[in-house]
This record gives sequence, structure tokens and C-alpha cells, in this order.
Amino acid sequence: MSRYMSARFDGLEAYVPGEQPQDMQYVKLNTNESPFPPSPQVLEAVNAAQTARLNLYPDPEGKVLRARLAAMYEVKPENVFLANGSDELLSFAFMAFCDEERPVAFPNISYGFYPVYASLYQVPSTEIPLKEDFSLDPGDYCGLNQNIVIANPNAPTGRAISVADIEEIVRTNPDHVVLIDEAYIDFGGESCLPLIRKYDNLLVCQTFSKFRSLAGGRLGFALASPGLIADLDKIKYSTNSYNINRLTMAAAIATLDSNDYYVENGKKIQENRAWTTAELAKLGFETLPSLTNFIFTRCPQVEGGTFYQRLKSKGVLVRHWNKPEIADWCRVTIGTREQMEFFLDKVREILKEAG
Ligand code: PMP
Repeated sequence: MSRYMSARFDGLEAYVPGEQPQDMQYVKLNTNESPFPPSPQVLEAVNAAQTARLNLYPDPEGKVLRARLAAMYEVKPENVFLANGSDELLSFAFMAFCDEERPVAFPNISYGFYPVYASLYQVPSTEIPLKEDFSLDPGDYCGLNQNIVIANPNAPTGRAISVADIEEIVRTNPDHVVLIDEAYIDFGGESCLPLIRKYDNLLVCQTFSKFRSLAGGRLGFALASPGLIADLDKIKYSTNSYNINRLTMAAAIATLDSNDYYVENGKKIQENRAWTTAELAKLGFETLPSLTNFIFTRCPQVEGGTFYQRLKSKGVLVRHWNKPEIADWCRVTIGTREQMEFFLDKVREILKEAG
């Protein structure tokens, strides 16, 4: 930190993103991207008219895309908010809804950005422990009287809670915002989105980064009551009114035009997830049940950090955290069948070397 930086950030520990090697020499199973490229329609849409119009600002309201998302999710455009990745959405939500008087609670093992935003915006936060099997007890959040952020399904565990449980949490915290981060909802989970019609304190966040193969485009969106959306708009128009660039907007619309392609890819990911989990079980791995495009797994012989390092030295990147509760575990993104075969070959080598 230079001597010019505000002292209010002295205690801030920034988020550390997963490795993004630029030479592409790894089988990359570390940041939950889709292994499948965007659909041909997306490539066409980005290449055509939009690049020639980059001299012009994009539509700050993202009208066309918001209308398309609203139609798809059977809500109104005033229920939809667009953000530059769901990370920006989370940032805006923490800024809009949390402060000293409105603290926030989230699970102790979840997406690493939640505590960072709490710290950035100087919001008191409570980390509620998951149970021993990494499942979440919804009772811990009922009547909590704080803002609540829950990733459902959770990351990095992959476990989900039911829509009925979410409803109970939302219903019993009427004076606070309950943010459900559904980044991984399209890989077999059930969205709590229909509840936004009934509860004006529910904010559902989704992203184009995973199921829709658009991590590099940076597009997240929220679905909520018009009141919460207007609050987010106020923050957006006070931060960066053109937060979705022209190319991403065009790519996203073309993505929605080619939904079947993504549904097919999603099925393949679910098949590969089941197959990889079964193969790992044969090797003695313990893997949590997952409704996402990744699995959280524990090697029977090799400690998590070492397992991660060995895989990396063999050309496979996965994610490991030096956090005591999960130090034995690694998170492995589900890729193509070929990528998972390569991963499993390397796992077998590591087990052999470990004796
Ligand atoms: N929420 C969760 C639970 C995530 O795992 C991620 C991906 N790292 C995000 C949000 C952010 O995704 P993006 O900003 O790419 O939409």
C-alpha cells in the first residue's frame, strides 16, 4: 500500500482469484468455467454489427437484454438488473443494503468474495458454520434479523438447500435482504426465483459465466422486486452507468437465442460429473453430492495442498484453499469427458506414486 491510500482499507484482504494462466498449457479445472465455447450464434453476433459500433456507448438500461431475460424467467423488465459479472452485482448489493446497522451473515465455507465485500464496505459480518458434512442448516438463518447471503448450490461444496428452506429463511427475515446467489443453479438445482413475486426482500443472483459459457464476457443479473432493483440501479448509476459493454450485450442476447445448445452442454456436464464422481469413488475418494459444474473431493492418501500441487505439476489445475476446515479437499471443475479422463489418469499416477 502506498502512503496515499485511505487508512480505512488497512484491514482489507483482497479476494484472490483462481489462477488464469495465459499460456493455456493446463487442463483448467480450477475456476468453474464451461469447457464449451459460446454458441456459433454468439461468435457471429459479436463479430458482426457490434464491433463496428464500438465508438458508441452501450444502452445503459440494457433494455433489449433485460426484456429478453424477463420474458425467459416470466417476470417484468423492472424485476431484472444487469451487472458486469455477478461479482459486481454482489458488490452493489453489499453497498446498497449493508452497513453498521444492517450487518450481514453468510456461511463460514462459501464464496470467498462475501467476506471481502463485507470488509470493503465495513459491514459487520457473521460467518455461520456449516454442519460437519458441509450441509447448511436452514434453521440457523431463520429469524436472524440480519441481511443474509447464501450461495445455492453452495461453492465450493456443491451442496444445495431446498426452495422450501429458502422460503422459510426469506419469510422469517422480512426486514432484511436475503440474497440467494444462484451462480450454479442450471446444473440440476431448483431456482427460488418464483418466490420474488411473493417476497420483496429476496434478491436472486445469476450469471452467464458458468452454464452459458460467457465468463470472459462478464455478465451477471439479479431478479427481484422492483424496489430492490431500483436500489441497485441507484448504486449502479452512481458507480458506472455503462457497466455492460456493447459486445457482451450482443453476446448475451445471442446466448439466449441459442438456449438449446447450452441445455445440451449442461447435460454433458451433469453426465461427466456423475461419471467422474463414480471413477473417483473406485479410487477411494470421498466426494460431496454436487448440483453444480464442480465437485468437492478428498483424496484418500494425499493431503489437499499436496494433491493440488502434484496435479499442477502434471498439467491439471484444480482449486485448493489453505483453510483448516477444508484443507483436505480440492474443488474440481467438471470439464469435457476427455479432460476428466486426463484428470483421472493423473490422479491414478499420483496415487501410485504415493504408494
Ligand atoms: N458467486 C459464486 C458462488 C461463484 O462461485 C462465482 C464465480 N467465481 C461468482 C458468484 C462470480 O461469478 P461471475 O462474476 O463470473 O458472474
